[in-house]
Amino acid sequence: MRIFDPHIHMTSRTTDDYERMAAAGVRAVCEPAFWLGQPRTSVGTFLDYFDSLIGWERFRAAQFGITHHCAISLNPKEANDPRLREVLDVLPHYLEKDGVVAVGEVGYDSMTPEEDEVFAAQLHLADEHDLPVLVHTPHRDKPAGTRRTLDVVRESGIDPGRVLVDHLNELTAPLVAGTGCWMAFSVYPDTKMDERRTVQVLRELGTERMLVNSAADWGRSDPLKTVRTAAAMRAAGFDESEVDTVLWRNPVAFYGQSGRLLPTVAAGPDPAAVFAGNSVLRGGRPVA
Ligand SMILES: [Zn+2]
Repeated sequence: MRIFDPHIHMTSRTTDDYERMAAAGVRAVCEPAFWLGQPRTSVGTFLDYFDSLIGWERFRAAQFGITHHCAISLNPKEANDPRLREVLDVLPHYLEKDGVVAVGEVGYDSMTPEEDEVFAAQLHLADEHDLPVLVHTPHRDKPAGTRRTLDVVRESGIDPGRVLVDHLNELTAPLVAGTGCWMAFSVYPDTKMDERRTVQVLRELGTERMLVNSAADWGRSDPLKTVRTAAAMRAAGFDESEVDTVLWRNPVAFYGQSGRLLPTVAAGPDPAAVFAGNSVLRGGRPVA
């Protein structure tokens, strides 16, 4: 089994998590830029954060045989702080970097006029840089938030095939299904979507343009939720090819639109070979 977790915040996780993920079949991840819990007060802290996503975190993941990509953005929550608006000016620099496979996560938190502005500006940036975009949908009043999100995407003129609408559930996935956008489900331990409900949506809507992620971060979350959802799919009668479509091929196809997937993933690795090359799991030499 090979898994690409298309949305996980490894900055907030330990090396134990990397080790467990690698052992369970996670070969690649995409880490979108987001809110770190403690509000930031200046643009400088974003520069250091973005640098760590494209530098340190990729190095840390590689030690466990995991290929780390990222998405860069001003997140919806901090879009409301006027001191941080200049983050938009530094984004173009990062959107040209290797391994930056999308703009994200963008979208709505509280649906304020500030969020409207920053969301639209970043859809425009994605279009300019020819990158796909990862869109967070709000956790409160989700159907209204999802409808408004889809309106803004439509108005932006961006190709819906380059848009991934995330944190969907039974109520909001059908709203996205006919739009041409990709759909993602964040599977959490005790809130929002769980494995069983996610599999039920896959049964109803199929596996095309469907992605599953753990969205694991500094809150209660589980970086193995992708693996557990794969197991739930099998238990529900999905075959290996369908599991591979949702957990590997779809994220590779979606982020592959950037033309920037790192070589280990872009080349379509043999999972067994990747595992054999993982010296940490073998307890051996440093990884080349
Ligand atoms: Zn997130």
